[in-house]
Amino acid sequence: MKKNIGVIGAGIGGLSTAARLAAQGHKVKLWERTESAGGKMNQIIKNGYRFDTGPSLLTMLFVIEKLFKDCGRNVNDYLSFEPINPLCRYNWTDGTVFDCSANLQQTLGQIAAFAPEDCEEYVKFLGYAADLYQKTADTFIMNPLQTIKDLKNLKKSDVFKIDAFPTVSTRVDRCFKSEYLRQVFKRFATYNGSSPYLAPATINVIAYVELCLGAYYVKGGLYKIAEALERLCLELGVEITYNADITRITTKEKTVSGLELADGSTHKADAVFSNSDATFTYAKLLDADVIKSKKRSRFTDIEPSCSGFVMLLGVRKTFPQLKHHNIFFGRDYEKEFAEIFQRKVLPEDPTIYIANTSYSDAGHAPEGCSNLFILINAPYLTDKVVWTEELSRDYGDLIIKKLEKFGLENLQEFIEVREHISPQEFYDRYRSNRGSIYGTSSNHQFSAFMRPRNKSPYLDGLYLVGGSTHPGGGIPLAMLSADHAVTIFNRNQKP
Ligand SMILES: Cc1cc2nc3c(=O)[nH]c(=O)nc-3n(C[C@H](O)[C@H](O)[C@H](O)COP(=O)(O)OP(=O)(O)OC[C@H]3O[C@@H](n4cnc5c(N)ncnc54)[C@H](O)[C@@H]3O)c2cc1C
Repeated sequence: MKKNIGVIGAGIGGLSTAARLAAQGHKVKLWERTESAGGKMNQIIKNGYRFDTGPSLLTMLFVIEKLFKDCGRNVNDYLSFEPINPLCRYNWTDGTVFDCSANLQQTLGQIAAFAPEDCEEYVKFLGYAADLYQKTADTFIMNPLQTIKDLKNLKKSDVFKIDAFPTVSTRVDRCFKSEYLRQVFKRFATYNGSSPYLAPATINVIAYVELCLGAYYVKGGLYKIAEALERLCLELGVEITYNADITRITTKEKTVSGLELADGSTHKADAVFSNSDATFTYAKLLDADVIKSKKRSRFTDIEPSCSGFVMLLGVRKTFPQLKHHNIFFGRDYEKEFAEIFQRKVLPEDPTIYIANTSYSDAGHAPEGCSNLFILINAPYLTDKVVWTEELSRDYGDLIIKKLEKFGLENLQEFIEVREHISPQEFYDRYRSNRGSIYGTSSNHQFSAFMRPRNKSPYLDGLYLVGGSTHPGGGIPLAMLSADHAVTIFNRNQKP
């Protein structure tokens, strides 16, 4: 039966949910507090430079393909995907450079030059990560994991084979002798905002996803995905209202009844799908007496993923040493993660990621210029770091000096556009829990079970989607959260 559905937020999870429900014939209204679609996937265009401000890498292409197919469309009519080669250029302070590619022979050729002792281990590690994917993906990623029944695909014999007890770092150190490769493989834990020194080795599955299943750029920039999802929603009849802040989810006898906006208007709904961060949804959008405080604290006390400090530079120059994706490693990785996750202060010698999309997409910067998206992992918001414009500028200056030392000569002198996005802005703009950028952290063996479920266990008609819910952060997982929430919603409908 056709239902009236309210969706809060036009992030990846909200848009994917709205499209799926509208394709099934429901009447869907979506409210977004900012002026545009995409949430953390956004863009800035300034003085001839174009920057993505959020994601720069798309993995698990089959997830977006399935989303469009389930909505009766072909994703290739909306988006053009390009494999990136090399996948990433890694740089170390001693001048060592590693171009990691999806092509195994090319990569082994590179490894032979700086870590010949680990060529065989590299191949073995990919086999190990592939095995983890086979044992975990069905149960922990592709499945709603709403009830114990959803564990049916997990073989008992596999429970102790998913490497949940050592940390990412312990396993990687056991596999590789080379400090360079150790650092490369530990970095994958940051793809969902975790520390390799705390997260279970199961997270090594991410290496398989990028290195074996493929990593893609979207022609025109990753923001094209948000535009394509918005177009899909509109074509399917979703009513989208921007600059519309939802302040309350209304309920009647433990059942959702509708939504209230900041302007005081109310809307009735048979079900509400919240793409607002799960912590924000439980702490701020529901009246205090709707869920007992002990139950509520399960969601409000949850540890967020790390946040990020973003600096966007439009530079009147190109740098031959930069590829599309680039990493400049800090000297002491363990100290860096202790600073982020334990001391919760800014890393003194941070690892720097640069997406230089003008390398692949000439239109993103004026001729002879570069658009550099720079991301530093930063602690989620606490009173230890108070973000001000001055702090952003000072920390940005430190990064620029570091990059100059790495060989990006006279970077400072050639900058003509400079923007910063701090963790505080990720909270202020998108309401993400303490400014986190990938939802909840995976710094615990049981993180997969602790993530907020896609259907609230306490209220009928309330569903949660997006990176802060099951199965986790990142574009494909936020899209999958929508698939799971809609699957559970359909299960709950009376015939
Ligand atoms: C700098 C950065 C780099 C990243 N890099 C990658 C990458 O390379 N690859 C990758 O896969 N992922 C990456 N990610 C993660 C990815 O962007 C996120 O996991 C994903 O976009 C989150 O989508 P979401 O559905 O959780 O929605 P969000 O992006 O959190 O959007 C939620 C939306 O809801 C709106 N909203 C919230 N509350 C309300 C309310 N009360 N009323 C109305 N609207 C509301 C917000 O304004 C927002 O638009 C990156 C993220 C960042 C920030």
